[in-house]
Amino acid sequence: MLDDLKDNNRNWAAGKVAVDPGFFKRLEGQQAPKYLWIGCADSRVPANEIVGLDPGELFVHRNVANLAPPQDANYLSVLQFAVDVLKVEHILVVGHYGCGGVAAAVDGQRRGLVDHWLHPIREVHHDHRHELEEIGDDRARWDRLVELNVIRQVRNVASDVFVQDAWARGQKLAVHGWVYSLSNGLVNDLGVTVHGHAELDRLNP
Ligand code: ZN
Repeated sequence: MLDDLKDNNRNWAAGKVAVDPGFFKRLEGQQAPKYLWIGCADSRVPANEIVGLDPGELFVHRNVANLAPPQDANYLSVLQFAVDVLKVEHILVVGHYGCGGVAAAVDGQRRGLVDHWLHPIREVHHDHRHELEEIGDDRARWDRLVELNVIRQVRNVASDVFVQDAWARGQKLAVHGWVYSLSNGLVNDLGVTVHGHAELDRLNP
């Protein structure tokens, strides 16, 4: 079963050891990533590959449409571990243009449980309906909603008590909002980085 994947795995592990014989031994000892990636589950957005980081260098949380819902125990557990234990210095909220989750949130079709999961995006859509309605092109409107969703999730992360407490005790931590482009493989930094409590107010998504 899945022999091709197992072959790939053996080749990958052998390749790593060929370049760096101590690679896995070192990682087995501990992980010390500087970055937490909160991204979409979309198969076209491979976190480590996009930013050229090896295993051990990026702590990753992915879900449909890269949400950071303040009541989601999975996301909160990842966030607390990353901030309190790993002491990451950067949290990257990374959306992607052409996100099917973002589109599904507002297309009016019913899909079941995921409609509840995507509810926060409908709120973002509603809050920005005037700006979005002025965008005539469907694709451009969709891409803007992707950006607005990322900015909202940056605000969610930055206003979370785990992050607030880290800043209060002087821990170095920044929250960034990026959008990845499937068409050219590049990330677009939305310029909404938050380094501390005082900067949170200017985020208004
Ligand atoms: Zn997506």
